[in-house]
Amino acid sequence: MGRSDPGRVTLSTGLYLTREGPHRCLSGHPWIYEWEIAKIRGTPEPGALVSLRDPEGRFLGSAIFNPKSKMCARLISREKMELDAAWIQARIASAWTRRRGAETCRVVWSEADGMPGLIVDRYGSCAVFQILHVAWEIRREAVVQAILDTLPVETVIERSDVAARDFEGLPRRSEVCRGSYTPPSRHKIGAAVFELNLLEGQKTGAYLDQAENYQKVAAYAQGRRVLDCFSNAGGFAIHCALAGATSVTAVDVSASVIAEGINNSALNGVNIAWEEANVFDYLRKAVKDQSSYNLIILDPPSFTKSRSKVAEALRGYREIHVRAFQLLAPGGIVATYSCSHHVPMDLLEEAARGAAGDARRVARVIARQTQAEDHPVLLAMPESEYLKGMVLEVE
Ligand code: SAH
Repeated sequence: MGRSDPGRVTLSTGLYLTREGPHRCLSGHPWIYEWEIAKIRGTPEPGALVSLRDPEGRFLGSAIFNPKSKMCARLISREKMELDAAWIQARIASAWTRRRGAETCRVVWSEADGMPGLIVDRYGSCAVFQILHVAWEIRREAVVQAILDTLPVETVIERSDVAARDFEGLPRRSEVCRGSYTPPSRHKIGAAVFELNLLEGQKTGAYLDQAENYQKVAAYAQGRRVLDCFSNAGGFAIHCALAGATSVTAVDVSASVIAEGINNSALNGVNIAWEEANVFDYLRKAVKDQSSYNLIILDPPSFTKSRSKVAEALRGYREIHVRAFQLLAPGGIVATYSCSHHVPMDLLEEAARGAAGDARRVARVIARQTQAEDHPVLLAMPESEYLKGMVLEVE
């Protein structure tokens, strides 16, 4: 192990924070931006483990380094350590222990499991991983081996094919690394079965972060006319149908996810009216046609990825909420979500409040929801709570 070993914290490579106030990393927040660094000692390579130090040089923790990103370091430990295969295996193993053997789940959730920029999901006998940091990119073989050694899987698939890789200066990649995989494969998510293409589907397979909410919302569905907006392949819709909804309509703009949805509803033996449409147009027309529902789900994509577009996103949120309130029969329920970092619970509430006012409805919050337990929130990092939801009941 020499001075140039990228996996070892040494005195020769270190980042020194500026004197600006106490840094959030003192309470365990892992993000360090380039403008928070006063001095870099040595010439650490992209992906190297570096020591993080206060302006006086006192050791604060070990961090992974990426000079190509504005977020140039992410803390992974408060100890001095070696970033080797044994460390990677131990961290994945401890995350797996916290999942208590779940058949389909997120096993490693980036910062929240102490491996910023690494996601690992288990889908039965397959593991799917995604690398969003060069530190794991250069240790990819160790990551794959640790997954195989730790999880009860035979196949390991990489889905590092997202735009976020571009910001880290990494090429996009999607492939079967170990074992074999012939799509589609069937997996139980919540209380229903879904057919997934783990090599091509959204994210790393399915919206596992919503899996618990499918069941919570379905608990209101019996005897109700349900409208699932931004349905994707039918997570909420199918659970509501299984729970005894009178009718279920699912709306999504993408023809391919509607095709998956049709397949999934047949697989689960339920009847759903699939509508390939823009939700904004669909809702406007439904109001005009005086349609009526008793349970409406609003789970839009992140309308904004940047702070500057928040006002525009909020107008979108407000509009879909106004329409939902107009369409609900007395006693009706809206389950509404924001998965955008820039639209936190208070803004989601504000949009819903304004919309209830516009629609002249009295609404009550009867439940609040968040991402599933296998997407834990790191207490020191409020940004890791990204999925916010409310269940509202109207008079
Ligand atoms: N509720 C889903 C996840 C929704 S993801 C689940 O839990 O499985 C957001 C979905 O919104 C995507 O499927 C995308 O195709 C769809 N979408 C995006 N913009 C849309 C629009 N304007 N109208 C309808 N669907 C839209």
